[in-house]
Amino acid sequence: MHTLRASKYGLAIKKLPPSIIEVIDVLTKAGYEAYIVGGGVRDLILGLSPKDFDAVTNATPAQIKAAFGRRCRIIGRRFELAHVYIGRDLIEVATFRAPPKKEVTSAQGMILRDNNWGTIEQDFARRDFSINAMYYQPRKGIILDFCNAIDDIESKTLRLLGQPAKRFEEDPVRMLRTLRFAAKLKFDIAEDILNVFTPDMAKLLRDISPHRLYDESQKMFTMGALNQILPLLIKFDIWKQLFADIPPKVTPFIERVACNTDQRIQMGKSINPAFFYAVLLWEKFVERTQFYLNKQLPPAEARAQAGLDVIKRQCTRTVIPRFTETFIREVWEMQVRLLNPKPQHIEALAGHARFRAGFDFLYLREKSGDTTTEGMGQWWEDYQHLSRDQKEVVIAKYNRQRNKKRQHPVEVIDTQAPLVKEERPRSKFSRKAKPNTATNAVASHGQQSKSSDQNVTDIGVNHPILKRKRVQRNLSDVTFGPTQ
Ligand code: ATP
Ligand code: MG
Repeated sequence: MHTLRASKYGLAIKKLPPSIIEVIDVLTKAGYEAYIVGGGVRDLILGLSPKDFDAVTNATPAQIKAAFGRRCRIIGRRFELAHVYIGRDLIEVATFRAPPKKEVTSAQGMILRDNNWGTIEQDFARRDFSINAMYYQPRKGIILDFCNAIDDIESKTLRLLGQPAKRFEEDPVRMLRTLRFAAKLKFDIAEDILNVFTPDMAKLLRDISPHRLYDESQKMFTMGALNQILPLLIKFDIWKQLFADIPPKVTPFIERVACNTDQRIQMGKSINPAFFYAVLLWEKFVERTQFYLNKQLPPAEARAQAGLDVIKRQCTRTVIPRFTETFIREVWEMQVRLLNPKPQHIEALAGHARFRAGFDFLYLREKSGDTTTEGMGQWWEDYQHLSRDQKEVVIAKYNRQRNKKRQHPVEVIDTQAPLVKEERPRSKFSRKAKPNTATNAVASHGQQSKSSDQNVTDIGVNHPILKRKRVQRNLSDVTFGPTQ
């Protein structure tokens, strides 16, 4: 074990937020050892700004709770730890862990419970990568380095502690973490990891809960190196495990949005991971909509059913929380509205809560070469920068062009109707769906001139969509993006 002088590596107490210092001080005063560990220390040494700081201590969760009282909550079952709230910050405080006992390991070697307390030496060996296993005591100004992690930082190498195959079997999520850190930090993956990182190994991710995989996917989408990680997910066969039905290919649209997302993060802007899910699933959604249209479902109905199907399939890999689902489906629905708005609804549409995300989606589709947007991405982009008078002029022009186009029938969309409708069982007097000739209600204009309301009332009572009751969700505390 080496004790490094923190200042030599650019670490100083004044670079830390007061919340993490308070956590260290409270634990120290209560008679425990306490360190900052993990990504916070790693990123500070690398000259990056850490996303958060994690603390580790020899106090048990109950003792941490006693030290912080109401500011502390114990969370987790598989991996129990304390959440300490200091002002607006949340600090995760873990207890030193010893190797897990045999009886909490699955037949495949996966650790099912990891709550066996131990010493700092044992704790270090339980961490994933050497660069994540440095312990920083800010009051003493020292870093404890048990495994020459500092050399790996200098040579930019991602090295797992222990045998890579065993470490992946214990927790397959470490495969995702490997790719995440390789992409984010631009580190090389050590040879011994590459040797065991096979498609068979990647299949172990099937045993991971969709909740945990969703959390990991969010971290991937928001780390600022999305464009780097996507090819790695394909190369190491991880894509298939995360996105069951999405073809493993970085399409121009996906690539464009990934770059855009990374740029926004670099500029410190907010992003909504749901937006990237909407992008990833888009092609599948268009394909599935076409499938229902071919079955003669009315366009609005085809889109609603396709949205349910595609998201339901994705949920078998990563859960899609309800508010995320609503957001995704509203962004998709916005595509139709923005493509063919009624002139009198244009202003209201531009003020719609989901306009920003829907427009960004449309614009990025167009910019990545999707011609089915028919230039409406640019139209809306220009529209937003016009004065009130100019807006009237372009709307009048749009109206004339639209009227010309309507000589060839198009689907007229009711831009005032809710984006994702509440689906309630209908009376037995509901009419049966009429056959329709729409070719594509999503990517281009449909061929029908029915209103979408009419389309929805055309659903038979036994149609599966009516069997799913949905309630409108509260979206007030969700940040929408990517350019909001
Ligand atoms: P980030 O910048 O994403 O927060 P991080 O390294 O801090 O990166 P966390 O998920 O916050 O990642 O975890 C904190 C620390 O806990 C890690 O640095 C690592 O030491 C340890 N850790 C987290 N997940 C695992 C795991 N699956 N196996 C072993 N150790 C882990
Ligand atoms: Mg962290």
